[in-house]
Amino acid sequence: MSKRVAIIGGGMAGICSALLLAASCEVCIIERQDRIGKKLLLTGNGRCNISNTEVSPEDYVCGDKERLGCILAAFGPQERDGFFEELGLYTQTVKGGIYPLSNQASSVLDALRFALTERGVQVKCGLTVTDINKEDLPDGKSLKRLKAGAGSPGLSPGAENEGGRYCLVTGGGVKSRLFDAVIIAGGGRAGVYGEEKQNAFSLAARLGHSVTASHPALCALRCGNDMAVTAGVRANARVSAGGYSEEGELQFTKEGLSGIPVFQLSLYLNGNEREAMVDLLPGFDSDVSYGDMMDRRLECFGDRNAEDFFAGLLNKKLAQELRRRIGMSATDSMSSLTPEKYERLKKLIRALPYDIKGTAGYKNAQVSAGGVPLAELTEGLGSRFAKGVWFAGEMLDVTGRCGGYNLHFAMASAFTCAADIKRSLDVQA
Ligand SMILES: Cc1cc2nc3c(=O)[nH]c(=O)nc-3n(C[C@H](O)[C@H](O)[C@H](O)COP(=O)(O)OP(=O)(O)OC[C@H]3O[C@@H](n4cnc5c(N)ncnc54)[C@H](O)[C@@H]3O)c2cc1C
Repeated sequence: MSKRVAIIGGGMAGICSALLLAASCEVCIIERQDRIGKKLLLTGNGRCNISNTEVSPEDYVCGDKERLGCILAAFGPQERDGFFEELGLYTQTVKGGIYPLSNQASSVLDALRFALTERGVQVKCGLTVTDINKEDLPDGKSLKRLKAGAGSPGLSPGAENEGGRYCLVTGGGVKSRLFDAVIIAGGGRAGVYGEEKQNAFSLAARLGHSVTASHPALCALRCGNDMAVTAGVRANARVSAGGYSEEGELQFTKEGLSGIPVFQLSLYLNGNEREAMVDLLPGFDSDVSYGDMMDRRLECFGDRNAEDFFAGLLNKKLAQELRRRIGMSATDSMSSLTPEKYERLKKLIRALPYDIKGTAGYKNAQVSAGGVPLAELTEGLGSRFAKGVWFAGEMLDVTGRCGGYNLHFAMASAFTCAADIKRSLDVQA
């Protein structure tokens, strides 16, 4: 009789796991939404930045970079391109980011969906998994037993719970048939679905897993400043906070700061940072060359008023914001500035402070940082606490930068966990 595998979550990680296992096992995806892959449609502004030409552990925040390196190495360019080829998915590369040739996220989802059908994967939508029970114990006791194993100090791979089959409990207490393996690929807390209470982290916790502190990442920052003057401006800038800094096209919004450099920065912040600094002229890498340029400019254009002085150097609205911050009117002559105010202006251009009030929240974030630590999983991404359960995708404590790294990890982790399940169930097709 063929082995049965249940996959909780029909996102990139769940779908890939299903496709990789379909030839060897009977596979069923259980998805709480009315259809699978909804988040995929939003990725890359509808274009789906599915991977990157350069992927290394340094592109991720993760508690165990060495383990992450092994997962990424097992899904190198050859494996990734082979996987795409099997799906009939052609790609193009833009500045290192890999996108579907069609430029449409929907065509990626279609390619995945058609392959699921062709490979006979069962897909059940509109069902939320609320619990995972082991077959051999009466209800309730199974959880206690799993938790007892989970709590053991210094748990090592040899100390795993013995295997067994699992049934899934869905809304209203309905129990599923028994499965030989379960993959939890429920994603994180970010995206349009919001911080739904029944996210899959609670399933991990019921099995005894910890979830490292989660926070919205790859998202905008809300600022306490008056943003009225600059709202809508986009400019190349460097933004820094908490000892990290990122350069790129910064977007000034009504609520605060946004754009790719801010998204990247949000990945590294822990919520305690109160101030972000914006360098409006990041191209001047030395203070000397910057200072010389400004002094020469003052010599040449000092007779201009404050509005005209910055023409050709800074976005008009940003120049207006600088004037606002040091209390100059547009008609004040630059040469009338006191030396102290001039020095302050020079400093502000390189370090314009913004009060951080928080992030744009899970709803507006691309990912939730944090998740199930790799240390609680085997090398094949199986649970050390509940043998027969595996994890894949954003659920794990592995969060990538913008640039296709999160979808890449969803596929790479599916690759690792599918290979391990085949080994474990002895179904090497
Ligand atoms: C707006 C936006 C743009 C993005 N752009 C990119 C990009 O261009 N490139 C990139 O690499 N990454 C991007 N990301 C991040 C990327 O989409 C995710 O990291 C990735 O999709 C995670 O895949 P996953 O399968 O692990 O989780 P998900 O895609 O979140 O899938 C998990 C699925 O599990 C289901 N589920 C959860 N709990 C249960 C339960 N208890 N029972 C049943 N089902 C359950 C959920 O409904 C969901 O469908 C973006 C994210 C967003 C929100």
